[in-house]
Formats: sequence, structure tokens, C-alpha cells
Amino acid sequence: MTRIFFKTFGCRTNIVDMQIIKTNIKDYTTTYDEKDADIVVVNSCTVTNGADSDVRAYINKLNKLPNKPNIVYTGCGSLSQGKRFLLENKIDKLFTPNHKEKIDQILKNLQQCYDTQDFVHIDDTIIEDYQDKTKAFIKIQEGCDFSCGYCIIPQVRGHSRSYEPSFILKQIKTLVDRGFGEFVLTGTNIGSYGKKGRYTLPSLLKDIHNIKGVCRVRFGSVEPSQITDEFKEILDEPWIAKQLHIALQHTSETMLKIMNRRNNFKTDIKLLEFLSEKGFAIGTDFIVGHPGETEAIWQEAVTNFKLLPLTHIHCFRYSPRKGTKSALLKTDIDGNIAKERLNYIKEIVAQNNHNFRLLKQPLKVLIEQEKEGIYIGFDQFYNKLKIKSSIDICKKWITIKDYEVKTDYNLGSAFI
Ligand code: SF4
Repeated sequence: MTRIFFKTFGCRTNIVDMQIIKTNIKDYTTTYDEKDADIVVVNSCTVTNGADSDVRAYINKLNKLPNKPNIVYTGCGSLSQGKRFLLENKIDKLFTPNHKEKIDQILKNLQQCYDTQDFVHIDDTIIEDYQDKTKAFIKIQEGCDFSCGYCIIPQVRGHSRSYEPSFILKQIKTLVDRGFGEFVLTGTNIGSYGKKGRYTLPSLLKDIHNIKGVCRVRFGSVEPSQITDEFKEILDEPWIAKQLHIALQHTSETMLKIMNRRNNFKTDIKLLEFLSEKGFAIGTDFIVGHPGETEAIWQEAVTNFKLLPLTHIHCFRYSPRKGTKSALLKTDIDGNIAKERLNYIKEIVAQNNHNFRLLKQPLKVLIEQEKEGIYIGFDQFYNKLKIKSSIDICKKWITIKDYEVKTDYNLGSAFI
């Protein structure tokens, strides 16, 4: 049987897309070693220069392998890097994400390129299982209607469109029957989920809660400007994870305007204080080094940033994406300065996270993996717990009150 290796780069939406690809391929076996593969399916990301160069390095590595696997390329980088790789004969086939459910046919056909974009496309594959995963990712939405100056995503994923609640509920029921209890709702911009007058994210959450076996629901990144009162109300539910990732991207009012963001610091701080008072751990995305980030704007951003109750952060150095508004701006921030700013921001949040964990709250943890007798999982605040156990507690839910706060994880006293 054809041996296929699957390689996913980027976000949770790409993890779901790869599972949809795996679900639609017939007659093959999965191999966990590229050197043993006949075909390697690469699901690419193109959100930053760093993402592009990681994918490029991987494609070059594959082309040097003695088994010369067929390389089948997809994902957000299909039309940018993908096309170039095809012209350079570095890959064998290319398809844009909307063609993924036809993967079986694509692999069997001689046609090399499937690049017709369909920005209203919605997948209708029910994922039967998530191999090697303890929590399940559920794509509820695709695309984005925002136009943040630095972002290429709307151009590669199209406008926002939502999956029908009935489809999402069927998907979750299928995975509950497989033993999954934790679900991460994901998409390109999940705050855009819903259809006017028909359904909203909070109404969907209430339906999800009615499914027996759903223990915890987490969210991918949510835009601050999309957090409604209805959404705030449902956040008190015990089955909602006590951590939210609210994408601010910056904390200087001037820079938020330059980035063409819909949020502003004045309302952001009120929102984050409201969520922190409810006991939430809060994560965010932050871009340093965007054109126009003068020393004065940086100082304003840092002063504001220190006021925020942030415990988690995805921090990126700006990189121009061809075809975006920001890419037309002069890149005027020195790389070393950007790096300093990145580490400075990360340090502030690492300290906040440590202080948050020193509150020593009881932790509800889903154990995800075991390494040399140490079990690792994440609690309701999305902090890592490590714990020794004489019994196998993988995929188990445990409640921990007695633990030690380490630099970047909590250490539970041995589980008997
Ligand atoms: S909200 Fe902005 S940053 Fe996020 S995907 Fe949409 S355009 Fe990109």
C-alpha cells in the first residue's frame, strides 16, 4: 500500500484541514517517517516570512531524501510559494485548500495543479478520529472580512463563512463517541461565526453543551471587537476553559490605526480587566517592528501593555507579506531592535504567567502525553502540568490541588 507522510505547518485550522485530507484518502498507510514515504503531503503556512522559510527548508530537505517521495503541496502558501516550487520542479502536485476533499482523485490523476480558488467553499467531511491527539479541533468558520494592513490571510482564505450548527454538532458527537471530551473551536476569525438572525457563537456553544460527554470547550483566537455581551454571559459556564486568546496585535493607539485594526486600546483594557476579574487567564497576539513603530510609539505601547492582565502571548516580528497594504510601507525598524522588543514583551508576560500560577488555584487537567514516566497535560488556564504517576493516566482528567510552581509549568505531587 502507498505509504504517506503528512506534514502540517501553521495554525489549528491547518491541523483540521490535514485531518480532512487524511479522512478522504483511500487505500494508503500512514508512515511517521519521511524516509519511508512514497508520498509526502505538505500543508503549508504563509502568515510570516518565518513560516515561508520553514516550509522552504522542509521542501528542500524532502528533495534530498534517497526515497525521493512524491511531494503534494497545499495550504495557505499554495498560490505564493507553491506555484514557484512547481515551476522549479521541487514539488509534484499542488492544490489549493478548497480542493482538499478530492485528494484521493488528485493523487490518482496525472494533473499536477488544482489552483482554482473557491472562497465560498465549506468542507462537508466529518472527521472520524484524531490520531495521536487527546483533544479535538473543530473548524466552525473559515475566511476573514477584516483588512488588517499586514495580513495576507483574507487573500488566501477568502471572506468569512460559517459552518451550519447541525454539521458542527454532528462532528462533535462523532468525536465524543470516539472518547474525546475537550474541543477547541477554531477557524480563521471565529468571532465572525454566525448567520444574521439564525445563529451566533453563543447559541452554538449552548447547543454544544447539550452534547453528553463534552467536558471542556476552548476557543482559538478571538478578535476583541467581536466579543459581545451574549458571549460574555456564557463565559461563566464551568465547561468553558478559563483561558481566552484575544488578538490585540498592538497596544499603541497610533500603531493600531497604522495597522488598520478594528480594536483600540481604550476598549481593549476594559475588556481584559473584565475577563481577568472573572478569573480568566488571557493570551494575545502581538506584532513588533511594524513600519512606523517609532521609539515614541513603542514607549506608549509598553506603558499600555504593562497595564494588561496578560498571561500568554504569541509574539511575532513583523514581516512584509507581498500584496498587503503594510508591505507598501517602508520597513523602518532595525531587526535587532525588533528582536529586543519581542523579548521584552515576552518577558513581561512570562512574569505575569508565573504570578498567576502562584495563586495556586485547583487545576482541572487533561493529561495528553507521557514521557519517561512523566505525564504532561494542560489545565483550564492553558498552563502546562507535569506529574509522575505509577498508573497510566494518559487521556485522563485529573484534578490537582497540590503542586509546585516552576518557571514555565506546574509540577504536581506524584499521582498514586
Ligand atoms: S482579523 Fe486581521 S489578522 Fe486576523 S486573519 Fe483577519 S485580517 Fe488577518
